[in-house]
Parts: sequence; C-alpha cells; structure tokens
Amino acid sequence: MKIELDNDIYNVVIERKRSTRNTYIRIHDDLSIYVTCNTLTSDRYILNLINSKEKQILKMIERVKRKQAKEEYFYYLGKKYDLVYLNKKGITFGEEKVFVSNDFNLDRWYKKEAEKVFQIELDKMYNSFIYKIPYPSLCIRKMKTRWGVCNVKTHKVTLNLELIKKDIKYLDYVIVHELSHLLYANHSKAFWDCVGENFKDYKKIRKELKQDE
Ligand SMILES: [Zn+2]
Repeated sequence: MKIELDNDIYNVVIERKRSTRNTYIRIHDDLSIYVTCNTLTSDRYILNLINSKEKQILKMIERVKRKQAKEEYFYYLGKKYDLVYLNKKGITFGEEKVFVSNDFNLDRWYKKEAEKVFQIELDKMYNSFIYKIPYPSLCIRKMKTRWGVCNVKTHKVTLNLELIKKDIKYLDYVIVHELSHLLYANHSKAFWDCVGENFKDYKKIRKELKQDE
C-alpha cells in the first residue's frame, strides 16, 4: 500500500496481530510507514489515521532522515563507502558502496571484524618486534580519548575499536606503541627510540593520528 504525504509517496507496511489492540505507527530506516494493528483494522481506517496524523508522521520521517545523514558513510580500514540501507539481510560490499539491512548493527559487525584483524596485526607486529617482550593478551573496546592502552603488569593491550575504520598503518603504529610499553612504562626517550626501531614512520603516523582525534 502506498500513500502520498506532502508530495512524496511512502510505502505503508501493515502488520496485523490478534494480540494488538491499538494501532501503532513507526518509520523504518527505508522511510516506509510501518503500522502495527489488530487483525480487524481495515486498510481504510489506517489510511485515514495516517492522513489525520500527517504532520506528526512527517516529523517522524524527518527524524529518521536526520539520523541517517549522520551515518551515511561507512569506514573500513581506511576506505570510505556510501552507506545504503536496504531491505536485505546482512552486509554486502560494493565497489564504493556498502549495503546493509535497516536493523544492521554496525558496531557489532565492526567488533567482529576487529577481533580478527587486530589479532592478526598484533601477531605480525609482535613477531617482527626486535626486542624480547612477553606475548600480550588483546582486548578491544571503544574509547573516547585513547587509541590504545597497555597494562604492563598483566601484559594486556587494549586497542580502540575505532581503529578498524582507519588505514591499517595506524593500527600497526598503535600496536607497536603499546608493545614498546611492555619494555618502558613511560614515554621516555628510550621508549620512543624503541618505537622508532620497530616502526620507521612513526612520527608522521603519530602526528596524523593526533590531528584526527
Ligand atoms: Zn604510550
């Protein structure tokens, strides 16, 4: 079913349930008008209801549009994609676009990817590290102010989930930085020498990361 509101045509999706007494209207991410109602509620009643609440519904649509404007890009390992919401399950990568379903949980997907990618890079940087250090455990979470944290006592390296959105060189630098803390708990000259010996371009990368914060 379709309906015209303010010169735009919207899809109306109706879900009828015996257990539902009232009629509820929501807006989905694809901007369809989603109505939940009782099995006995007629199409005509729904259309009348939508028309009578036109103002409110247009506001709801605006809210969904605004929310999407903030999330219209998708970043993965330094590449920027247009984010497109579809009524199709899961996530699909195109050349410059990423298609996700309306209810796709981006953060959960990022976390799963990060668990694979960060571990691979941690092992890579650990194996090429020129000093003997304990093998650290890895923890991943979203952090507001830091890219990485190293617990020298428990040998635990925590990496910011947001690094999955950036080019892999930033991730590698942060890993080397945290691994160097397993030798030096401070930011002394010896510490930075160690970082430099294990990551050639670190000054440039560090600067770029800071500007991005
Ligand atoms: Zn540090």
